[in-house]
Amino acid sequence: TDAHLSAIEAARVLNAFVMETPDRARDMAKAVDEKIAKGEGGPLAGIPLGIKDLFATKGVRTTACSKILGNFVPTYESTVTSQLWRDGAVMLGKLNNDEFAMGSSNETSCFGPVGNPWRRDGSNTTLVPGGSSGGSASAVAALLCMGATATDTGGSIRQPAAFTATVGIKPTYGRCSRWGIVAFASSLDQAGPIARSVRDAAMLLRSMAGHDPKDTTSVDIPVPDYEAAIGKSVKGMKIGIPREYRLDGMPAEIEKLWSEGAAWLKAAGAELVEVSLPHTKYALPAYYIVAPAEASSNLARYDGVRYGLREPAKNIIELYENTRASGFGAEVKRRVMIGTYVLSAGYYDAYYLRAQKVRTLIKKDFEDCFAKGVDAILTPATPSAAFGIGEKGGADPVEMYLNDIFTVTVNMAGLPGIAVPAGKDAQGLPLGLQLIGRPFDEETLFSLGEVIE
Ligand code: GLN
Repeated sequence: TDAHLSAIEAARVLNAFVMETPDRARDMAKAVDEKIAKGEGGPLAGIPLGIKDLFATKGVRTTACSKILGNFVPTYESTVTSQLWRDGAVMLGKLNNDEFAMGSSNETSCFGPVGNPWRRDGSNTTLVPGGSSGGSASAVAALLCMGATATDTGGSIRQPAAFTATVGIKPTYGRCSRWGIVAFASSLDQAGPIARSVRDAAMLLRSMAGHDPKDTTSVDIPVPDYEAAIGKSVKGMKIGIPREYRLDGMPAEIEKLWSEGAAWLKAAGAELVEVSLPHTKYALPAYYIVAPAEASSNLARYDGVRYGLREPAKNIIELYENTRASGFGAEVKRRVMIGTYVLSAGYYDAYYLRAQKVRTLIKKDFEDCFAKGVDAILTPATPSAAFGIGEKGGADPVEMYLNDIFTVTVNMAGLPGIAVPAGKDAQGLPLGLQLIGRPFDEETLFSLGEVIE
């Protein structure tokens, strides 16, 4: 814990932590030491972690990196983090993220952008670590913590993992409790770890996962020993290579990485099959209707009355207006406006309802594929490597949304997906591959992920 606290101090330039909690960390570590002495350390005894600022931490400021939550200090602990502390982990502090987890580059945070510890060969340009869990990915990649919590609504665990050569898994929807996690789009949000290796990710997920009566969408099935899946033979497994993910204009190095990953799995005894997921091209537009619709509803609670920021006003309407105008950033306002629009009476059928139907078709594509005996699907994790701060999405938000092209389908279908570091581009930047699994079959992803790693 001390070594990591010093590393955090020395790497403040990355802006990965928005709040450091050294006293709490040392107290927690000491308490764990005493437990270890009694033989009650727990599976994560003494492991120092960073926590995305979207997880409510009792007595520690939790902001979702939005000005509107201001100095909100929860009186409760999220289920996921409380399970990590139960198992002996130690909290080092809270990690930066895109405001309300809306973004793909960690540039929408009210605390400013996060730096990626990776650089292009021979260049000093600071690159983004991806988003929205940019602080988590950067901190793990820079060895500031042994692992981190993260959340993934449309790729926010897997894309930052791919940009920083870390491992990130979004488990099946319902695997982890969402209780105490600031809501973005409730039917898509899932918690998961970002870690230094597939094995670390397996150990962390085991503690984070599990049924919670406080989240009615969390599923009451046993959590397997994920670590036992590491090193298990993948011989005879059927790996689907989806034809629709071969995009026009895809960089040659991403294509190459994808073929290499497939070859490694084949060499380990897996069988490769070409599969079709015909509705893939509708996933991104449908996601950018469903996610903002749910966000506009979830964010209605930030009214200046119940939480955080409250701007002065003469009456209640002005209170809402003034607080929201100054408390929400530009991307959040854009999402709320899109969401309100697609849910409004005249447009509901044309946009929201249609997007929900498309979502069903996307889910069915995967079901058909798994029904043919496919065990997992291999795709690139991102369409490019990390880019520079300020380089994308400035004039055209859709340019930023395109980052999610390979990841959003998984959230729309509720499936588990893992991003594993697999190679580098011509400029020395990390690239990742994604494996998509059957519902609640994270184990297969760990077994296959370890082969690629
Ligand atoms: N980049 C996507 C978005 O902005 C996904 C974010 C996430 O997964 N939290 O909506």
